[in-house]
Amino acid sequence: MSSDDQTASQVSTFAGLGLSAKVLSAVEDMGYVTPTPIQAGAIPHALVGKDVLGIAQTGTGKTASFVLPMLTRLEKGRARARMPRTLIVEPTRELAAQVEENFVKYGKNHRLNIALLIGGVSFDDQDRKLERGADVLIATPGRLLDHFERGRLLLTGVEILVIDEADRMLDMGFIPDIERICKLIPFTRQTLFFSATMPPEITKLTEQFLHAPVRVEVTKAATTAENITQRLVKSGQKSWDKRETLRKLIQQEENDLKNAIIFCNRKVEVSELFRSLTRHEFNAGALHGDMDQRARMTMLSNFRDGKLKLLVASDVAARGLDIPDVSHIFNFDIPTHAEDYVHRIGRTGRAGRAGKAFTIVTRSDGKYLDAIEKLIGQDIEWQDGDLSTLEEHANEDGPHDRPRRGHKDGRTGKPGAGRGARRDSGAAEKSVVVPAEHVEERRARKAAIRNDNGQRRDGSYPAESDKSRHGRRDPGDTADRTIGFGDDVPAFMKVAVKL
Ligand code: AMP
Repeated sequence: MSSDDQTASQVSTFAGLGLSAKVLSAVEDMGYVTPTPIQAGAIPHALVGKDVLGIAQTGTGKTASFVLPMLTRLEKGRARARMPRTLIVEPTRELAAQVEENFVKYGKNHRLNIALLIGGVSFDDQDRKLERGADVLIATPGRLLDHFERGRLLLTGVEILVIDEADRMLDMGFIPDIERICKLIPFTRQTLFFSATMPPEITKLTEQFLHAPVRVEVTKAATTAENITQRLVKSGQKSWDKRETLRKLIQQEENDLKNAIIFCNRKVEVSELFRSLTRHEFNAGALHGDMDQRARMTMLSNFRDGKLKLLVASDVAARGLDIPDVSHIFNFDIPTHAEDYVHRIGRTGRAGRAGKAFTIVTRSDGKYLDAIEKLIGQDIEWQDGDLSTLEEHANEDGPHDRPRRGHKDGRTGKPGAGRGARRDSGAAEKSVVVPAEHVEERRARKAAIRNDNGQRRDGSYPAESDKSRHGRRDPGDTADRTIGFGDDVPAFMKVAVKL
C-alpha cells in the first residue's frame, strides 16, 4: 500500500469515509461492515474530486471504490439529454454489465438514469436511454465511439471519467480508443483510473491523462493467494492428449470439485473443448468473446447459480467476472502472459476459502512456465512427476477422446451410460446448456460453403461421401476434424477421368 492511502486505510468504517447517508444505508443493507483497503484508500480522495490511480485487481472491492463516491457526488445536479454526467469505460461487456449491477445495488436509494452501451445488443434501446439523459454511462470503447460517431452522444458534460481494468484494455488493443475518449472529455473532469498492473504503456497513459493523481496500491499483481493449492500436470502436446488429461483431472478432483473454470488461450479451443466435454457428458458451458451478449449472460448466471459445473472460458471473456467461490481452476492451456496466470488462479481461493489450480503443461510450454514461476517468485509443484517422466507414446495413435462406457465420475450421465446410451440420457442432455452461437456458427460455416441450391462457392457440388459424413451421428471429436480435403475438394479433382 502506498503512503497516500496509509492514513485513509486507517478508517475502518464506511461512515468515516465521507459517503452520503443514502449510500451508507445501501452499503449497510448489503451487509458490508469494513471498507476494503482499496475502498478506504480511494473513496475519501474521490469524494473531494481528486484524480485517483488505483492499482488493484478484481476481487479487492475496487468496483465499490469508484461506484460509492460517484453515487455520493451525483446527488447534486441532473442529467441532460445526450450529455451523460459520468462515464465508466470497461474492456468487456460482462464487466460493464457487472458495474451496472453495482450501480443498481448501491444506488437503490437514488433515482439515477443508468445507460449501458455495449456491443451485441440493439443500438435503438441504448439510444433511447441516451436521449432521456444518463447520470451514469457505462460503456465498452467500441460501442461508445460508435454512438459518438453517429452524433447520438455528447461527451462534453462528463464530470467524472472512470477507466477500469486499463491493463486489460491494453491487452485487447483498446489504448488508442481510450486516448481518443479521454480527449473528447473536458480537461476539467475528474478521472478515476484502475489497473491491476502498470506496464509502461499504462504508465504513459496515466501521465498523459491524470492530474496529480493519488496513487492507491493495494496488492502486488504478482502475488498468488496462499490458500490456493497449485499443481502442474504433464501432458502430451496434442489437443486430444490434453483433453484426456483434463478429464482425468476432473475425475480425480470429483470429491472436492464444486465448480471450475477451465481456461483456454484461444476462442476456437474454448469451443472445441466445450464440445468435447459435453460429448463426454460433463455439465459444461462455454464463454468467449464471439458469443452474443444474451448467451454470455445466460451462461454466466447458470454458472453462478450452480446449474453449470464447468465453465470453459478465454481470458478476455472471464476477465473481472465476479464469481464468488469457485473451487477449481484448470488451465487447459498454460497462459502465454504470465500475469494472466495470476488473474486466472485468483478466481479461486477468494475470501480466504481453499481453492485448487491445476495447469496442464506440455513439452512446448517451458518458456511460459519459467515466466510464470519467475513472476510469482516460486516453483509450482508437479503432480505425479515433471515432463521428464512423460511417456512419449502418449496417445500417438490418435485421439482417445470418445466417450467410453462405464464412467463413474461427476458427469451428468448415469454410470454405464456410454456412447451407445447417449440418446437415452435425456436428463444429462437437458442439463447441458448449448450456447445458441454454436448452432449459429455451424449454420454460418455451412452457408459459407454452399449456395442455396446446394452448389458450393467454388461452383462444385458436394460429393456423395460428403453427405454421408454430414449425416453421421455422434462421431466423437473426430467430427470436427477435416478428413482429406473435407468440404473443400478442388473441382478439378472431381472431373471424371476417361480411361
Ligand atoms: P470487486 O473487486 O469490485 O469485483 O468486488 C469483489 C467482491 O467483493 C464483490 O462480490 C463485492 O460485492 C464484494 N465487496 C465489495 N466491497 C466489500 C466490502 N467492503 N466488504 C465485503 N465485501 C465487499
